[in-house]
Amino acid sequence: MATLVDVIFLGTGNSGCIPNVSCLTDPKADCKVCLSSMTPEGRKNKRRNVSVAIRFHSHGDPPEARLRTVLIDCGKTFYESSIELFSKYGIRELDGIVVTHPHADAIFGLDDARMLTHVVQDKVDIYLTQETMDTVATTFPYLVSPTLATGGGDIAKFKYHIFDPTKSFEVHGLTFDPLPVHHGIYFTTRTPYICHGFRFDDIVYLSDTNYIPPETMAAIKSLPSRILVLDCLRMGESHASHFGLDDALKATREINAFKTYYVGFSHRMDHYSLEKQLKQLESIENLRVAPAFDGLHLDLASKTKLVESSYFTDTIVVD
Ligand SMILES: [Zn+2]
Ligand SMILES: [Zn+2]
Repeated sequence: MATLVDVIFLGTGNSGCIPNVSCLTDPKADCKVCLSSMTPEGRKNKRRNVSVAIRFHSHGDPPEARLRTVLIDCGKTFYESSIELFSKYGIRELDGIVVTHPHADAIFGLDDARMLTHVVQDKVDIYLTQETMDTVATTFPYLVSPTLATGGGDIAKFKYHIFDPTKSFEVHGLTFDPLPVHHGIYFTTRTPYICHGFRFDDIVYLSDTNYIPPETMAAIKSLPSRILVLDCLRMGESHASHFGLDDALKATREINAFKTYYVGFSHRMDHYSLEKQLKQLESIENLRVAPAFDGLHLDLASKTKLVESSYFTDTIVVD
């Protein structure tokens, strides 16, 4: 068992991140989102790969023990997010990394966990499917078989835990229920490519999807959700492997969490105008939904109030 304390958004952008260098160097300078992301007033448009840090008290630990920290995904921007946020929140050890799928924006930061192992801890525990494990082994052979390392051999040390996508698994007492969703297709077979979202405590996390199968939706709706974290790449209709705003809103209404946060934005999504647009839905249909941003901190310690903050914004209590 575990008691959830908070969730920190380490990244909320698509694989390419925001800003795009091509927009910054464009003589026409017409991508307002990318250009604004480089300014203090537009900083919520600056987005790394989607990832969250989950912190909790493990009931197996003594009362005075430190909080446990588990990441979901460790993509290309893990290094940047960790140097920006870990010290601000007193995160030093990682008690696990749970991986949704083996795309670059979910696993390419694993090599950078080297800074933790050797110095802070002996190893990091990684929780992943066999399919993700196979890609990790192809991408980072030295992280799976240290005998394949070259040079000085200073590589990150991992313990891999293969999870069965049909069963829940625990990380230091926090239970993760895998939620299989479609995330585009295999180009070889044209069959759906499966990414795993998760339920942990009363939070549903679906970072990468273009379609939620009925059986997964039924599993999500079988329990009330306090927080939904949901893919929303762009305005309008679906992308081949991601939700557009229309799909995201449909799923938001259907799942009906206390509050929903969108992630995975492209540079066609301006945080500030989207926030304003979504805010209107609260008065119209009592739908609490907002774009997340890099650095957003959700204090979940109280079951009756949700507190949103970051080190560069005001604190907001969502009653
Ligand atoms: Zn741009
Ligand atoms: Zn992906």
